[in-house]
Amino acid sequence: MSEWGEPVYRAQQIWQGLYRQYWSSPEQFTNIPKSVRMLLAENLEFKALSLATTLNSSDGQTVKSLFKLPDGKSIEAVLMRYEKRNTLCISSQAGCAMGCVFCATGQMGFKRHLSSGEIVAQVMYYAFLLHGENAVVTNVVLMGMGEPFHNYDNTLAAIDRLNDPQGYNFGARRFTISTVGLVPAIRRFAAEKRQVNLAISLHAADDDLRTSMLPVNKRYPIDDLLAACREYIAATGRRVTFEWALINEVNDTPEQAILLANKLKGMLCHVNAIPLNPTLGYSGQATTHERAEKFKQILNGHGIPCTIRLRRGIDIQAGCGQLASQL
Ligand code: SF4
Repeated sequence: MSEWGEPVYRAQQIWQGLYRQYWSSPEQFTNIPKSVRMLLAENLEFKALSLATTLNSSDGQTVKSLFKLPDGKSIEAVLMRYEKRNTLCISSQAGCAMGCVFCATGQMGFKRHLSSGEIVAQVMYYAFLLHGENAVVTNVVLMGMGEPFHNYDNTLAAIDRLNDPQGYNFGARRFTISTVGLVPAIRRFAAEKRQVNLAISLHAADDDLRTSMLPVNKRYPIDDLLAACREYIAATGRRVTFEWALINEVNDTPEQAILLANKLKGMLCHVNAIPLNPTLGYSGQATTHERAEKFKQILNGHGIPCTIRLRRGIDIQAGCGQLASQL
C-alpha cells in the first residue's frame, strides 16, 4: 500500500475484507476506493483455487471438493459435519512423496508443494460455504493430500495466517498436523512450542511391518520416532495422537496391540484407530467391528486411551487422494 501511495491502514482493510468478510474478488472491497480496487485487480491474484467437483455423501454430512490449482494440478479438501463440529481435512501438497502403500495419494507420487495461500484458500472456501449456513469451521486437520512436514514452512505460514487475530482468528489449538513421522521436523515443531496439535500416522508397532506399509520408516524407525514424540511432549506438555488405520489381519492383531501398548507405555498420548478406507492400488481390507473392539480393549487394558473412529464419506472416496487419483 505504501508503494502505491496509499495509507498503510488500507492493508488492514483489505486483510479484514479477505478474512472477516470472505471477499474473494477485488470489486467486493467496497471499504476501499475504486482506484485501489482497480490496482488490486491489475496486480494481485485472488483465486488460488477453482472448484472442479463437489461430492456429497449420501447422509449429507461429508462434502468433498476437488480443486484445480492455477497450473492444472488437483487437490482435495473434505468437510465432515459431526454433531456440533465442522471439521475440515485439507491438503498440504499436490500428490505426496511418502509412498504409503495403502494411500491413494501416495500411489500417485509427488507433484509439488502447495503455497501457503493455496493451503489457506481451502479453509476459506469452506469457511465461506459454512458462513452461508450460519455455521463455522470448528477444526482443521492437515491430513489430506501430502505430508505437511515435508512442506513445513508453507504449512506453518498458512496456520499462522489463519490464526491472525486481525484476520480469520482461528485458534491454534483447533489445528492438527498429521505427519508420517519426519523426525527432524517433529523436533523443530517441538522447539517452536506451538499450540497446534500433533498426530502421528503410526499404523504398525514393529519396524518390519511399518516399513512394508510406510517406506519412510526405513529412514526414521519407530523407536527414533517415539523418542522425538517424547521430546515434543516434554517440551510442550501436549498430548500426541497416534493414528492407526485398522487393516484386517495385518495390523489389527492382538500381538500388534500388545506391542503398541508396550511402546507407548507412560506417554501422554491417545490412539485414534479407524478401519481402513480401501484404495484401488492396495489389497488390504478394513478390519471388522469385533477385531477393532478387541484391539481397543487390549490398549485400554494396558492404560492406553484408544478411540475407534467411524469411517466417513466412504461412498464419496473421502480418503485422501481417492478422488484426484481417478481423474
Ligand atoms: S498417507 Fe499421507 S504421507 Fe502417506 S502417502 Fe498418503 S498423503 Fe502421503
